Amino acid sequence: MESEVAFIHDFDSSLICDYFGRLERQGPGSRESTILALSFIDNLSDESEIADFACGTGGQTITIAQNTRGTITGLDIFPKFIEKFNENMNNLGLRNRVKGIVGSMDNLPFRSKQFDVIWSEGAIANIGFQNGLDYWKGFLKNDGYIALTYESWFTDERPAEIEKFWVDAVPAISTVETNISIMKKSGYSFVAAFALPETCWIDTYFSPQKAMQKEFMKDNAGNKAAEALVENMEYEAELYEKYKQYYGYVFYIGKKL
Ligand code: SAH
Repeated sequence: MESEVAFIHDFDSSLICDYFGRLERQGPGSRESTILALSFIDNLSDESEIADFACGTGGQTITIAQNTRGTITGLDIFPKFIEKFNENMNNLGLRNRVKGIVGSMDNLPFRSKQFDVIWSEGAIANIGFQNGLDYWKGFLKNDGYIALTYESWFTDERPAEIEKFWVDAVPAISTVETNISIMKKSGYSFVAAFALPETCWIDTYFSPQKAMQKEFMKDNAGNKAAEALVENMEYEAELYEKYKQYYGYVFYIGKKL
């Protein structure tokens, strides 16, 4: 059974976009958790420049925009997500302050020390936690903030099934304590860390998927990869239910030294 499990990066990108583009968020999180993370960030003004890396269709970006002043640049590797992102910002009347661009978070088209805040929910593992922290620091002003969520272990030991699942998906996955020390070594002072509550997984991530999977399967009838993707996501939801005391996303907030 375990050897048959595919990972999200094994699927074709157009299928991923079709599946996750139907959702308001592409990863665990919530309006409340984004607002809580924002509460640790001082000195924002209408001059502030905020970046949201791997913004997806902009679920969290909308919350950031509605609770800050200044301008926000969202960046994501999938053009279809950015199209939807910009459409969402237009519909909400946020387009004068928020724009989305296509790009890769490991090859950024920005100036050195451009941003007051770098945000990134549910994505840094794609380029590595330490690598992302080191590289992104160059784009932050002195005293600028970083706020991101990252898969983390809550305990020192875990049952084999869940250990294997996450080590295969995120080889560098570590405990909260280790991640904080990596952040400090990368040249940030530690501001705060908190685990996303269960509602961020169940109510805003797994439940909306359940509600749209039937339609996704109807639109992709006969497509084996689409079936495998749904099975994969169902398996992830089952694992969460079974092992949620051992892992989750943690919000890490740091300030560039
Ligand atoms: N922040 C959003 C999306 C998280 S899902 C949310 O929390 O809802 C992970 C996102 O990372 C996807 O939108 C995916 O397209 C993006 N992504 C993956 N690799 C990337 C890269 N190298 N550069 C930019 N975006 C990337």
